[in-house]
Amino acid sequence: MEVRGSSPLSPIFLANGVLKLKQGEKLDLKTQLGNLIQLQSIDSQIYLLKLEIERKPEEIKALEAAFEVKKQGLAQLEKNSLDLQKQKKDFELELASKEENVKKLQTQLYSLKTNKEYNAMLQQINDTKADASFTEDKIIKSFEQIDKIKIDIEEEKKKLMGEEKIFSEQKKKCDDRIKEINNVLATLESQRSQALSAVDPKILSQYERILKGREGLAIATVKENSCSGCHMLVSHQVINSIQMYDRLVTCGTCNRILYIENE
Ligand SMILES: [Zn+2]
Repeated sequence: MEVRGSSPLSPIFLANGVLKLKQGEKLDLKTQLGNLIQLQSIDSQIYLLKLEIERKPEEIKALEAAFEVKKQGLAQLEKNSLDLQKQKKDFELELASKEENVKKLQTQLYSLKTNKEYNAMLQQINDTKADASFTEDKIIKSFEQIDKIKIDIEEEKKKLMGEEKIFSEQKKKCDDRIKEINNVLATLESQRSQALSAVDPKILSQYERILKGREGLAIATVKENSCSGCHMLVSHQVINSIQMYDRLVTCGTCNRILYIENE
């Protein structure tokens, strides 16, 4: 169908995703496809770099979280050390009270009237002494545990210093990569704006629409009768249409613009 009055270079968009030139139009589609392929190569790089940079904050967050978990190990050891010291103090108070009790019982011992009372008191003193000795053992054990945990804490601190160094290096690597990507992106964006000027505006608008909806890939080659974008079969009729270069042909499945390499 012919549309009167439109610019000689403006293609007509058909409902089935095929961009058709009007009869007699001189738009060199072969050259336009070449320009699009060049633009796509820049856009593919931009797409991947943007994807990479988008994931960086999450990567840094994961590094920070892993380091926090490692710090929690030391915090737990320090808490255990405080608990043990408090427990030891309690045992020491307990021992003092038992020793006090022994002394008190011993002073009462000689004021007793009968042998039976005396023996009973002696037994009570011996029981309290045995009990105190048991508490003394617990204090010795506490000392040993506190000494051991001190060594563990020192080791954990050294380990953590190493971990902190690794964490800082990894984080710096991430930050450096972000800077590097931003620099490359700036270069690519300027290359992109140059490449854009060679593409027909209507073809460009179709290309950019597909680019947004199709993970950064708007133009796909046909290889072994398949669309390299979605890997679905492309009919011979479609391949013939591509080779005629009188209209832009898109994939019936993924809607990407199709071309054939090395013709
Ligand atoms: Zn496809």
